[in-house]
Amino acid sequence: MNPVRSTFTVAAVVGLVATVAIPAFAAVRSTSADAMTLQQVAANNAQSIVVASEVAPAALDRSGFTATTPEEIQKKKDEEAAAKAAAEALANRISASSSTASYSQSIPLVAPGSGLVRRPLMSFNNFGTPYAGHRGTDYMADRGTPIYSVADGTVVASSESGPGWGVYVKVAHNINGTNVTSLYAHMDWGTRAVQVGDTVSAGQLLGQVGDTGRAFGTHLHLEIVVDGAYMNAESWLVANAG
Ligand SMILES: [Zn+2]
Repeated sequence: MNPVRSTFTVAAVVGLVATVAIPAFAAVRSTSADAMTLQQVAANNAQSIVVASEVAPAALDRSGFTATTPEEIQKKKDEEAAAKAAAEALANRISASSSTASYSQSIPLVAPGSGLVRRPLMSFNNFGTPYAGHRGTDYMADRGTPIYSVADGTVVASSESGPGWGVYVKVAHNINGTNVTSLYAHMDWGTRAVQVGDTVSAGQLLGQVGDTGRAFGTHLHLEIVVDGAYMNAESWLVANAG
């Protein structure tokens, strides 16, 4: 071994370390206090890469990769059963609160006005236009806006899981001998104030506006059926509401 060459090599390595240890002002220029050495930058990058590789598989599918032995599989099944039970308990609490209507105590239980037919929303601004294949009229309203029955009647549906309607209530009416049904969809969770079989009065609180089911934004989807025929709900209200 040539001692001169060996010393030369060591000096070159020391020089390399000294070079990369210079604060990387070009990379991090915000303040001098933020200045990092290239080693720190490299260490941070390495750390973030490690974190990403640890997190990604777990985020993709916890149940797919983590259990391998029979004991682990059983443990995972137990955990999943516990999570399911917790979700069901939450759902039960939500439906229980809807039957007591505790969520609705701060809003009027009866809409103002008189007459056989009332508007379902106390404040009426704009509404969506009915379109092909859409049997209701959409009334834009804030979450929590009270929804009232359009007339005296009997509740024939009250559910948290309507097809596309989400949380909804349907009422059957007989208005001066004419059979009318009204359906109120996309109510907020836990706000239904009536159950199937309940008798309701015109203007009685049914629930509150939300965006459950197939809804993009909070609104009331109102369907009015007169003697079996779907009506333009807004036109029907203009003609009939007192
Ligand atoms: Zn609608």
